[in-house]
Amino acid sequence: MSNKAAHTVIIGGGFGGLFTALDLAGSGDVTLISDQDHFLFTPMLYEYLSGEVEEWHIAPNHKELLDESTNFIRDDVTDMDLDARSITLKSGRKISEYDALVVAVGGVTNFAGVEGAAEFSFPFRKIAHADSLRLRMVEALDQVPPDLPPQDTQRALTFAVVGAGASGVELSTKMADLLRDAFKRRALRGEPRVLVIEMGDKVVPGMGGEIREFVEDALRESRVEVHTLTRVVRVTAKSLTFEHNGGLTEIETAAVVWAGGVRMNPLIEELKVEKTNRGLILVEPTLQIPAHKNVFALGDVAFYKDATPTLAGTAQLAFQEASLVARNVKAFLSGAELQTKHFEELGEAVSLGTERAAVLAGGKAFGGPLARQARFALYTSRLPTWHHRLRVGASWFFEGTSPRPLLPLGIQR
Ligand SMILES: Cc1cc2nc3c(=O)[nH]c(=O)nc-3n(C[C@H](O)[C@H](O)[C@H](O)COP(=O)(O)OP(=O)(O)OC[C@H]3O[C@@H](n4cnc5c(N)ncnc54)[C@H](O)[C@@H]3O)c2cc1C
Repeated sequence: MSNKAAHTVIIGGGFGGLFTALDLAGSGDVTLISDQDHFLFTPMLYEYLSGEVEEWHIAPNHKELLDESTNFIRDDVTDMDLDARSITLKSGRKISEYDALVVAVGGVTNFAGVEGAAEFSFPFRKIAHADSLRLRMVEALDQVPPDLPPQDTQRALTFAVVGAGASGVELSTKMADLLRDAFKRRALRGEPRVLVIEMGDKVVPGMGGEIREFVEDALRESRVEVHTLTRVVRVTAKSLTFEHNGGLTEIETAAVVWAGGVRMNPLIEELKVEKTNRGLILVEPTLQIPAHKNVFALGDVAFYKDATPTLAGTAQLAFQEASLVARNVKAFLSGAELQTKHFEELGEAVSLGTERAAVLAGGKAFGGPLARQARFALYTSRLPTWHHRLRVGASWFFEGTSPRPLLPLGIQR
């Protein structure tokens, strides 16, 4: 097979798909298909919510990132027939006759069948989700007059975040800091209420004890109410009901944000290949799908054995796998030997409110404003393409990364 004529199709423009496409640039004919026109650096979606970063920093357009040799199609893949080598798009278009296929469609929010959750809570995985949540926070603040008694103000400004994994604690501390700042600016009485609700017995269960201490301190400082061993049973447009120790409690809420987990992408659910009991595609150490050697799967949809277990479902893993997939696609197309690799943690960094973060690097954890700066520096280096990294790094350095206050709708900047 000649490399020049070979056609590689990549589905999904996130950490797995985009970084594979960037590494494959110039290796034959490459097509990236994604339902969004941009990549999203998800670890900084919290900073986008708070206005510490702008959309172009973390969600650059695919066409700006990819060179002319890569064809980009914005569309939703609705069906993959691996035997016929055919892909169907929502627009009705069909892509067939590919030589290699890379599947990196990621996961979707898992509402776990909780009554009202899919209908009434805010997911938090995309730019549009962060925009809707921020708008909801502003609208809720705008409805509260400064002379309202503190207890009524708090009732009207109660926000709940479901799930106390990294996402839930990053989100709840960010929201609490933003809301408290808005209280001061708008001279509201009392304080907002932000709850984080977790089924397990501790916050950030997937992280080590060292970093958890920083997280717990930050939750206290941001005055986030933590409810562990607590299960959400119902969400409505204006309330949330949870169960703890057998008792049910219903609270009024301005918004419920769902950070309670990820489930398999429906496109993969339909795919008839070997999977784990959680529905992940079982891939070989080369990231190939065993029954279809020309198909590779990576990121949140694939189960890869040779990786530190805590890496499962992370950008860190998808990003590292992408370079192996790109190498193996090239090898497959040229008839060379495919490789395998062990993947390790690259360190952890969590944003904690608008002023602090916690970073675990080289086995040492540190926190506070310095960790916040370190996180920005670390993430600059993880953004796609040199050109984009330089532009964003310069913008953060020269223009700063201060949060954007929740000003009334009429005077939003
Ligand atoms: C808010 C948030 C914060 C996170 N923070 C961190 C963090 O700090 N560190 C970390 O390591 N991980 C983090 N993660 C997890 C990380 O984002 C994922 O593990 C990673 O993005 C997985 O990469 P992926 O390529 O498998 O999927 P994604 O990056 O999700 O990419 C999938 C892409 O495919 C597109 N797509 C989906 N279905 C279709 C379809 N049918 N047709 C066409 N396109 C489709 C999607 O729109 C998306 O662009 C975070 C996730 C979220 C949501």
